Amino acid sequence: MSATRSLRATIAASVVAALVAAPESSADELHLKDGTVIHGLLEEETRSGYSFAEVGEKRAKSHRRKDVARVVLTFELPAFVSNDPQWSQEMVDGRTVGYFEKIEDLEVLRSDHYIVFTDSSAGKKYLETMEDIYDRFKKVFPFEERQGAPLMPVFLFKTNDGYYNYYQLIARVTRASAAQSAGHAWRDYYATYYQSPKDPVNYHEGAHQLVANRMNMRGGGSWFQEGMAVYFEGTVFPGEDPAKGIKGIIKSGGYTPLPEFVKLPSLLYSSDTTQSSSLAHNRYQQAGAFIKFLKEGPHDDKWPAFLQALRDGKPPHAVFEEVYGMTIQAMDAAFVEYYS
Ligand SMILES: [Zn+2]
Repeated sequence: MSATRSLRATIAASVVAALVAAPESSADELHLKDGTVIHGLLEEETRSGYSFAEVGEKRAKSHRRKDVARVVLTFELPAFVSNDPQWSQEMVDGRTVGYFEKIEDLEVLRSDHYIVFTDSSAGKKYLETMEDIYDRFKKVFPFEERQGAPLMPVFLFKTNDGYYNYYQLIARVTRASAAQSAGHAWRDYYATYYQSPKDPVNYHEGAHQLVANRMNMRGGGSWFQEGMAVYFEGTVFPGEDPAKGIKGIIKSGGYTPLPEFVKLPSLLYSSDTTQSSSLAHNRYQQAGAFIKFLKEGPHDDKWPAFLQALRDGKPPHAVFEEVYGMTIQAMDAAFVEYYS
């Protein structure tokens, strides 16, 4: 079983600092129910709401879900990341100094679409893997690469300790929490430690990175983001095809009905501690199978409109109604029937 996957990471202090100079047009928007619109960066979606850093403010503030009408995510990266698509030395230093134990061991390698920072000797091999991910992903989910799109950063640590240190620093999580993951993708980067270039975790996290940075889709919800990554993984590794297990999950009652499923802030964490790991597993499978149903099932012609509606920031029930002409309950029933 590959590592626990987590998108749940808060952003680096350097990204917060860059916000000060960021124009409002390249910021996320938090629309409150009282009509206020806050510009800044979404740091984290939590069970109870959102952690949101306003432009010009040093610290993120928490906003309760019931006070928030809408979240609009920008697809542009902070200016300091995209001002040199090939990454100047200054940009490289800004993202690496303080994050590698021995900075003198750091190697920086570039390929057509990626830049890897590593203290291991496997940088070249991983770049080949990332380019393989890029090619395969583009065939499954076609996108236009915009002119001057910045190389996507990959942090490859020689040891798992090096990776855990990085994760702790960048996301301000506990060691125990960092040590549960073997890799994570967040904003523009993918970070991991050396295992095998062919490990499915690279393909899963690499898909997250491309959904955000080449399909320009950061929103949609955990069900969508994880579904895309799990589905893509299944196209590369037949053993990971989410369609295989979903029938059993539906039969055994490990299935979460769609109206509830699309509201989960994270598929990974749940309040059900007794079964949390199998529940998380089932939910990842369900997310991947649902994306497969939408992409390959009886409504496959609606796929581009579905993506566009999510990109426009519409909530799932409105997306299903407008694009498919189905209530979320009817969509749920159609999905269950498709796999039964
Ligand atoms: Zn994931």
